[in-house]
Amino acid sequence: MNKAILDSLLEKKVELKQRINAIEADFKKGRSQDFSEQTSENENNEVLNEIHHEAKIELDLVTQAISRFEKDEYGLCSQCTAPINPERLRILPYIDTCINCAK
Ligand SMILES: [Zn+2]
Repeated sequence: MNKAILDSLLEKKVELKQRINAIEADFKKGRSQDFSEQTSENENNEVLNEIHHEAKIELDLVTQAISRFEKDEYGLCSQCTAPINPERLRILPYIDTCINCAK
């Protein structure tokens, strides 16, 4: 399989980890603000929570894609083992199901 894909997955993993760390640092910083700012702080935390949650899901998917790469299973559907359309992989490099199984 294409090494460029693996490289981009590894890069993506680093990027996501940095994003998650930055959000977690923000959470800690936010706690020390005074009471009058707490309402907007809570709203802000909600947004951060959501980004944090999504980044973690993405990180999981990227990590799984990398381990599939190592097992030589990358690009194969995890449900039916059919090869995944290369165009689909190009857009979603960490997808693990073919278009039929994704439905
Ligand atoms: Zn499939």
